[in-house]
Amino acid sequence: MAKEALLHTAQTLERLGLNKGTSGNASVRQGNAFLITPSGVHIQDMKPNSMVEMNMQGEAISQGKPSSEWRFHRDIYQARPEVGAIIHTHSMFATTLACLRHDIPPFHYMIAVAGGDTIRCSDYALFGTQALSDTAITALESRRACLLANHGMIAIGKDLQQALDLTVEVETLCEQYWRALQIGKPHILSTQEMAAVFEQFKGYGNWSR
Ligand code: 13P
Ligand code: ZN
Repeated sequence: MAKEALLHTAQTLERLGLNKGTSGNASVRQGNAFLITPSGVHIQDMKPNSMVEMNMQGEAISQGKPSSEWRFHRDIYQARPEVGAIIHTHSMFATTLACLRHDIPPFHYMIAVAGGDTIRCSDYALFGTQALSDTAITALESRRACLLANHGMIAIGKDLQQALDLTVEVETLCEQYWRALQIGKPHILSTQEMAAVFEQFKGYGNWSR
C-alpha cells in the first residue's frame, strides 16, 4: 500500500513535469523507518517493489539501491518528527532560481505556505553527500520547503499529498517570481503584511493540517 502510494507520487511528479528521467526522489515515513525511491531508475521503469525500505541508521532493509539522497531524507525525518513525506525535484523554475543562490522573498502572499516569509536557498554542496543534507536541514529550519543551490528543491509534508501540494505550489511561486523579474522589480510584502497572511491562513485548506 505505502509502496504503491510512493510510486504514484513519483509518477505524478513526472506527469506534472516536475521531475524528468532519473532526477529527483521521494520518500514516506514508516514508523521507525522510511520508504524511498530507488537510485538512478527512470520513473517509468519503477514498480512498487522498486521502493527501498531504510532504517534510521541509513541501512537498506529491503532489496534495491536507495536514492543517493537518502541522507537528507533520513536526517529530515530525524530532525522533524512532524514530517511524514519528503519530495525532492529538479523542477524548471525552482532550479533556475536555485542557480542564482537567492532566497525567494515574499513577493506573493502564498510564500507563507512554505512556513515563513522567505523560501531559503541552501549553500551549495555535492549531491548525495552529508554536506548537502547538513545545508538542507539549515535551510529548512522552521520551513517546509527550500531551494538547493545549483540543484533543485525540497518540499516536506505530513503526508505524500501535502508534500506534493507544496511541491506544486513552490514551483508555481518560482515561475511567478521569475516571470515578474522579466518585466520589472516585484514589490515585496512587508513583515506586517506577511504576519496578517499567517493569521488569515489559520485553518485555511490543506496547509494548516
Ligand atoms: P537518485 O536517482 O539517486 O534519487 O538521484 C537523483 C537526484 O536528484 C540526486 O540529487
Ligand atoms: Zn537532485
